[in-house]
Amino acid sequence: MCPGCLKEGYETYCNPCLKKLFNGKKVSHVLTFTQPEFNEQRLNQSEHLSISGIQIKHSLKLEKKKLILTETGGAYILKPTPLASFLNLDYTPANEHLTMQLAGQIFYIHTPPNAFIRFRDNLPAYIVRRFDVLPDGNKLLQEDFAQVAGKSEENSGKNYKYDFSYEEIAGLMKKHISAYHIEIEKFFRLVIFNYLVCNGDAHLKNFSVFRNNEYGDYTLTPAYDLLNTSLHIPNEGDTALELFKGEFATESYKHGRKYAQDDFYEFGIKIGINKARIDKIYGGFLNKENIIRSLINRSFLSGELKEKYFDSVLSRMKRLEYSYEGKL
Ligand SMILES: [Zn+2]
Repeated sequence: MCPGCLKEGYETYCNPCLKKLFNGKKVSHVLTFTQPEFNEQRLNQSEHLSISGIQIKHSLKLEKKKLILTETGGAYILKPTPLASFLNLDYTPANEHLTMQLAGQIFYIHTPPNAFIRFRDNLPAYIVRRFDVLPDGNKLLQEDFAQVAGKSEENSGKNYKYDFSYEEIAGLMKKHISAYHIEIEKFFRLVIFNYLVCNGDAHLKNFSVFRNNEYGDYTLTPAYDLLNTSLHIPNEGDTALELFKGEFATESYKHGRKYAQDDFYEFGIKIGINKARIDKIYGGFLNKENIIRSLINRSFLSGELKEKYFDSVLSRMKRLEYSYEGKL
């Protein structure tokens, strides 16, 4: 299995993956350092510890054919197993990798090149190419939607990342993005995808834009931090944010208390996508069980977690297929 695209018949990264990830250099899928060595080096660079909560991540750069830890000029982010007390955490790298591959390969969601990788002591990690770093080393200006919305813990309290709706994110996009009609379809697709794969942590900071300095305009960045959180936090809510702002709810939701087809259609209309485009985008999420199953089976999850992953997607697929209005 290629640890990048999960194609069968490979023992390491296939050529297309080497090209996308490492500009064609023959980089090994085993790092030259162990996880303890990684942690130690990271602690030595303690002023950079605040990147994000419980998740340890670190920048890597490519030197010849070796990936090495770096404080500056890193073109990759390495994410090992996080330190926390949720379930099955050893499999978060495999989960994130699989989920990103599902998004990119099956649902045409723009994702940065990413792969599964191992430390020298065999422990798993997820590696992703930084999309804010250009090939010449220059950085693009990136802002997440908490920044765009002007929300922080100081001004909006501890729950600030969750105290918002996807409809309101669309509202901010409309205000700041001149190619809104294109970008909003990408956003719509991503919101449906997160629901399908049980990503219950797609909060305000997990969506970002590039800021184009010259024109003061924005475009959406590729998707990131996608994973099936139900494998780690079984009782988490279905979505990190509500679809709709305020008290609005569809008849379907009032009857079932779960988002289903009518909710996503209504959401699509509210954010300005026409019915024909909604049909097309939404249709792309249905009847994909077989190819989803096949990619899950080739992933680095354990046998048990492959079943859990697939079962959770199937139950969401059923909800996406269900229309209360259509049954009246
Ligand atoms: Zn590959």
